[in-house]
Amino acid sequence: MPHLLLVATGGTIAGSAADSSDTAHYRAAALSAETLLAALPEAASIGSVSAEQLFALDSKNMQPAHWLALAQRLRERIADPAIDGIVLTHGTDTLEETAFFLHLTLPRSKPIVLTAAMRPATARSADGPMNLLQAFACAAQPEAAAHGPLVAAGDRIWRARDCRKRHSHAPDALGGIECGPVASAIGTSIQFEAAAPATAPRFGGALATALPRVDVICAYAGAPADLLEASVERDAKALVLALTGHGSVPDDWLPAIAAARAAGIAVVRASRVMAGGVAPQANFDDAAHGTLVCGRLSPWQARIVLMLGIAQGHDALQLQADLLGA
Ligand code: ASP
Repeated sequence: MPHLLLVATGGTIAGSAADSSDTAHYRAAALSAETLLAALPEAASIGSVSAEQLFALDSKNMQPAHWLALAQRLRERIADPAIDGIVLTHGTDTLEETAFFLHLTLPRSKPIVLTAAMRPATARSADGPMNLLQAFACAAQPEAAAHGPLVAAGDRIWRARDCRKRHSHAPDALGGIECGPVASAIGTSIQFEAAAPATAPRFGGALATALPRVDVICAYAGAPADLLEASVERDAKALVLALTGHGSVPDDWLPAIAAARAAGIAVVRASRVMAGGVAPQANFDDAAHGTLVCGRLSPWQARIVLMLGIAQGHDALQLQADLLGA
């Protein structure tokens, strides 16, 4: 039997409400890792399981310092020969950011499976217990390791890099935008449908001790250019512009972009549109303006790559390679 470790960080999967029909008013991160495990005796048929409560957060409060502490702890646990696989519980709100951070920083030697819930544990038809059970079933599969961190939710398993929150309240909120899952979960039977890519984590070396400030600034009709100036004044080391369409830059932002570049701040064109990303030179002369592009990443993913790349001292050329290769 494999030995699986549950690392709990909070979220709605550990949420509690006064009324079982209320899925909109509850306290996230109210139940402990031990309580979640005690409510899931079926896990014993998959493996022996131990639990660790690392944080008790509503994931809206997750900070980059938490990502670093989490990655450090998981690296230690991955190195422990007594542990075969790890399941991480997390709130859905920022799961895609934490999952992507772990995708970039953890070795791919043991299965790491994140899971979450949209309904609190006290709700009728709570989605958490089955998601957690399927996450354990996935973490017990040695072949899961090479995919990098995975997300188990609603009978499907997604690569961390591909998983987004796609709905603000429906139970089927987590999933891919332009791609399918890597595996299906039918009960506790996990069927992989895609081979693992032969890639290594982009930032698998020594972990940074701190991450620089990188801001995401969203474009919309009339969005003022002084948002960019305010970020630079507050010591942002890079700006990710969540632009309209295929990375269209408003004309009145050009002077602020030029000033940021002159101050050595990396400026990345990304898109606020859910799918497609921004390709180099599309709609804009990146070479002439000194801007970078996000490739297929979301603005939030591009921000994480920049934080890690800048912490490593990468220059603009390396940052562009990081963004396209993450
Ligand atoms: N606010 C919750 C969280 O992200 C939402 C959830 O888990 O679904 O912690």
